[in-house]
Order: sequence, then C-alpha cells, then structure tokens
Amino acid sequence: ATPTAIMVGTGKGAEYGILIKGGEALEITHKVGTVILDKTGTITEGNPEVTDVIATGDVSEEQLIQIIASAEKGSEHPLGEALVRYADKNSIMLLKPESFEAIPGHGIRAVIDGRHVLVGNRMLLSDAGINPDHLEAEASRLADEGKTPVFAVVDEKAAGIIAIADVVKKDSKEAISRLHQLGIMVVMITGDNQKTAEAVAREVGIDRVLAEVLPQDKAEEVKKLQKEGGIVAMVGDGINDAPALAQADVGIAIGSGTDVAIESADIVLMRSNLMDVPSAIELSKSTIRNIR
Ligand code: ADP
Ligand code: MG
Repeated sequence: ATPTAIMVGTGKGAEYGILIKGGEALEITHKVGTVILDKTGTITEGNPEVTDVIATGDVSEEQLIQIIASAEKGSEHPLGEALVRYADKNSIMLLKPESFEAIPGHGIRAVIDGRHVLVGNRMLLSDAGINPDHLEAEASRLADEGKTPVFAVVDEKAAGIIAIADVVKKDSKEAISRLHQLGIMVVMITGDNQKTAEAVAREVGIDRVLAEVLPQDKAEEVKKLQKEGGIVAMVGDGINDAPALAQADVGIAIGSGTDVAIESADIVLMRSNLMDVPSAIELSKSTIRNIR
C-alpha cells in the first residue's frame, strides 16, 4: 500500500470517528474473516438492571436484597453495581461488610452481620459444594429470557436468585447482519452463562457463542480461532478484554470503554457504535482496492 493511500484511508476513518493506529492495521483489516464481539458493553449497553427477585427459604425478598447488595457494596463489577443501585432505589439500607472478596469470573464472598454470603454464578456455588437444585428451573427460565441469574447463598444455604438484564444496543443486530454480508463469521465471547449468552446471541444473529469464559482465558479463545485459519478481529470495551484485543490480528475498542482496552487496540470506535465495525472493514477494503 502506498503511504498516500493509507493516509487517505486513515483520514477518512477519522472523519467517522474510526481511529486507526497506523497503516498496518488499516491494511490487515480488509482480510478479516472472523469478528469476535464481547457481549457486555459491546453488543449490550453495559448498564445491567435488576429485573426479578426470587427469595426462597426463610429470608424475605427485602432481606435478600439487603444481604446481597451489602455484600456487593465493595464490588467494581457491573452486576454488583446493579445490585447496589437496586437496593438504593428501593430505599433498602445497606450493612457494612465485615469482609469482602471478589472472585473474578465467579462472583463475590462477604461476611454481613456475621452471616457468610456468596453471590455469583453456578460455578461459584459448585466450588463451595452447594447445589441449588430447587433453583435450577427458575435460573434456566430466566437465562432463556437473556437475563443473568445471580445466585445468593447465606450460611451455606441457597437463599434465592436475582435476575439482571442488560439491553441490546439498537444497532447490534444490523451491524452483525452487515458483517454477514461481508462474508464474515461473527462470534460472541462472554463470561456469562451459556443459556443467557445463547438467548442474546439469537436476538442479534450471532453465529457462534463462547460462554462462561474466564477473564484470563479470553485471549486463549482468540488464539484458538486464529488457529482455525483466517484473520481474526476482536471487539471489546472492558479491562478484561485487553489481552484478547492485543492477541487478535485486529483489536477494536469501543470508545466509551476503559482506557486499558483503548490502549490495547489497533482501532478505536469513537462513536461507540457497532455499525462502525463493518464500516472499518469496508474502509480497509476500499483503501486496498484503490492502490491496486
Ligand atoms: P463478563 O464481563 O463477560 O460478564 P465476568 O468474567 O466478569 O464476565 O463474569 C462472569 C460471571 O461471573 C457473571 O456473568 C456472573 O454470573 C459472575 N459474577 C462475576 N462477578 C460477579 C459479582 N460481583 N456479582 C455477581 N456475579 C458475578
Ligand atoms: Mg464488556
């Protein structure tokens, strides 16, 4: 590619808020055959909200929310923040945790008013040797609706489920269909559970789902797809997407995402619009076409 063509291409990208870091990124982007999209904050808005509260056993719904939100008070995870927001909105007073520990990809562990509390996914519960059999049907129904079921355990007893949902961005479906028109396979990657991920994937037309992927394993999943052949682009917004963005042939960060993601990326979408993913690929294709 001539320097002039590259300059024109990156200039055109900048007009649309597609920041391309260097000519190499612009050149390789036209060969992309697989696009991996992070779910939370990339396909969805990233503003999860509590939708259902199901208390079982001997705690009331209000007590359940109080315990869970108090336990999540120190959490920086969007799900934890959603739980705390929900308690605030319902004027439920929070208690100060006596201890708190985040378990990445699983949930949190805390002590509230002398009670040992776990909040998180099924893996967190099975690691603690707790089997929430009586909650499985409910969890499965919520997940089929695209909601994330969050389990709560109080003193080794499953105490309930809270469902949290995140709205799909309005352009996600159309962006994915444009990628399909370009002959590209579209994969979703997420730490969320399989059923929830599949429900969201169905809604937007994803070809393949990689769910229940631990934060530290996202880059490895990118590598596996690269080994299947073809050039792989990864689109993400979060801190835990950074290694995957760096591993991909083309790392694309959402402009509203975290600084670490933006630094690790080759392309930054300033408008935070997924439609700019196919646009960046089309821009690269037209740049390459013009110089041949
Ligand atoms: P992602 O960013 O793709 O949602 P994470 O690895 O951060 O993935 O989380 C994976 C799963 O672990 C979540 O879907 C949730 O079930 C559980 N989880 C993680 N952190 C928390 C938390 N603070 N509270 C409740 N559940 C959590
Ligand atoms: Mg994300």
